[in-house]
Amino acid sequence: MAGHEIGDAPVDSDALASPSGPSFSFELYPPRSAAAEEALEVALAELVASGPEFISVTYGANGSTRGVSLGLLRHLVQNTTVAPMAHFTAVGSSFAEASQLVREFLDAGVTRFLALRGDPPDGVSEADLVLGDFGSASELVQLIHGVQAEREPFVTHPMPGFPGGTRLRSGRKVTIAVAAFPNGHPRSRSRSQDLDTLVAKEAAGANLAITQLFFEPDVYLDFVDAARSAGVTMPILPGIMPVLSEKRLHRILELTGEAMPQRLLRDLRASDDQAAVGVAHAAQLAREILAGGAPGIHLYTFNRSDAPLAVLREVGLLAPLEISA
Ligand code: FAD
Repeated sequence: MAGHEIGDAPVDSDALASPSGPSFSFELYPPRSAAAEEALEVALAELVASGPEFISVTYGANGSTRGVSLGLLRHLVQNTTVAPMAHFTAVGSSFAEASQLVREFLDAGVTRFLALRGDPPDGVSEADLVLGDFGSASELVQLIHGVQAEREPFVTHPMPGFPGGTRLRSGRKVTIAVAAFPNGHPRSRSRSQDLDTLVAKEAAGANLAITQLFFEPDVYLDFVDAARSAGVTMPILPGIMPVLSEKRLHRILELTGEAMPQRLLRDLRASDDQAAVGVAHAAQLAREILAGGAPGIHLYTFNRSDAPLAVLREVGLLAPLEISA
């Protein structure tokens, strides 16, 4: 896949190009206790060893995990060969604060971002939400490009169609991902509003979309078709979560506002090995959307390695475990 250029900054849409087939990547959240940090260390070593395209690190609502998120991103840069991606929310932030944080990420060696509008803090309604300086995730995308461009040396590039003409562009590539919602965002009024938002994010300079979780292949495949018809050209990477128990399923739906997947619920209830059902369901979903043209899969790990790696093995993106005699 060729890198493609938006505005004056060359951006990296090669993030998912792999000669050996579809990519895979993981999402982690910053650990909230010493015990969680220890457990993550073990899981992280296994996730890193599997060779993901990148590992993304979530950002607590309103910057509540700023320090821990940055610490985990720095750890990935300094101690692993895996590219980290920083989630970053705009809600409640001024342009100056956001620019400062982008500089900190860049100083730490992070060149991939997931730019999000973010949710209202607990107890604050959408109507009372103070967005800060940002009206949308698109404005955050523009700000990241601006900060990136201001600190990188500019280089001249020939202008196609204008012999002798040159254009100034920032020299470094950044990936700026944004969120996409195959089932619609809970606050959205219509599918077309979600598509318009995604088109606007790409126009602002986003070069990768990562989806909210979903449970049926057609939901993703139909959404990608609709997005292409609406003019979205960037890769749309499906976010997949192995759901390891009915309890976890309820919690996830509470957090995301997604509808109950009745088939998965029935299968979980019918089994005394719910984790195996969750892994098999995620693997089947991944197989079908990869067959339908998905560029790779992004796995929501809940900071575990066993389930996401089992999914990758079932899908054939990782070699099966060798059992020694
Ligand atoms: P937008 O794309 O700007 O909006 C989402 C949709 O909501 C739009 O499609 C639009 O249709 C609709 N909409 C937006 N504003 C309005 C409005 N005022 N009225 C009506 N409809 C509106 N959250 C975190 O806090 N930290 C994270 O690390 C994090 N990581 C995420 C990773 C992924 C892959 C995804 C999919 C979501 C993540 N979120 C995270 C959640 C995200 O912050 C929420 O979905 C938030 O509600 C919207 O952010 P956005 O960037 O998608 O917003």
